[in-house]
Amino acid sequence: MQTKEVIAIDGPAGAGKSTVAKAVAKQLGFLFLDTGAMYRCVALLATRAGLGPNVGEAAARLAQQAKIEFRPGDPQVVMLNGENVTQEIRQPPIGDLASQLSVHSAVRQVLVRSQQEMCSVGRVVMEGRDTTTVVCPEARLKIFMTASEDERARRRWLELKQRGVDADLEELKHQIRERDHRDSTRPDSPLRVSKDAVVLDTDGMSIDQVVERVLSEWSARQT
Ligand code: C5P
Repeated sequence: MQTKEVIAIDGPAGAGKSTVAKAVAKQLGFLFLDTGAMYRCVALLATRAGLGPNVGEAAARLAQQAKIEFRPGDPQVVMLNGENVTQEIRQPPIGDLASQLSVHSAVRQVLVRSQQEMCSVGRVVMEGRDTTTVVCPEARLKIFMTASEDERARRRWLELKQRGVDADLEELKHQIRERDHRDSTRPDSPLRVSKDAVVLDTDGMSIDQVVERVLSEWSARQT
């Protein structure tokens, strides 16, 4: 199979995919495509429209009309229909609704199509839990990044704290467990390990070590 100049990083909630994908993209000068941010944008639009988690078709229509753009920055800036929503989409209730809306095939179809367009040009690091299996199975490097539940909750807590969001560790653990369950059991694109992915269990590894490992796997795939 012809491979694309794409690194796809998959894995469960809070494994550190985003931090690593961002750092790898920066080192290689690639675009960082944060697919979770796109589900979060749809959740934000749904919240503003007063929609709950069970309205797949209506949420898909919102997704269809949404213009989502990524602009360079640290953190990367997320623009939704011309508005900077970088901070707002990180609020825990938006993440929760994003996870609930992401079970609807209608929503997934719209976002996956748009993600495939964005990565068709290559030089992309994409992150999200169906990127290796559905969005870009032809990525030259596929990584399945994971860590224990405790470690993932701790990392999520730290990440939120750095953004000035106060969160309860036990509550985050609970959310991660629920999200893992929902992501692994949903009928459309459940979280699973692609057979040719490199599995990275990152417990006990620093971010830098994970980034280095991904970069060395990437170098090994250049001809
Ligand atoms: O990764 P992040 O927490 O920002 O993603 C928010 C939610 O969107 C996830 O919990 C997941 O349910 C959903 N998602 C998805 N497929 C992706 C990325 C995110 O279903 N590729």
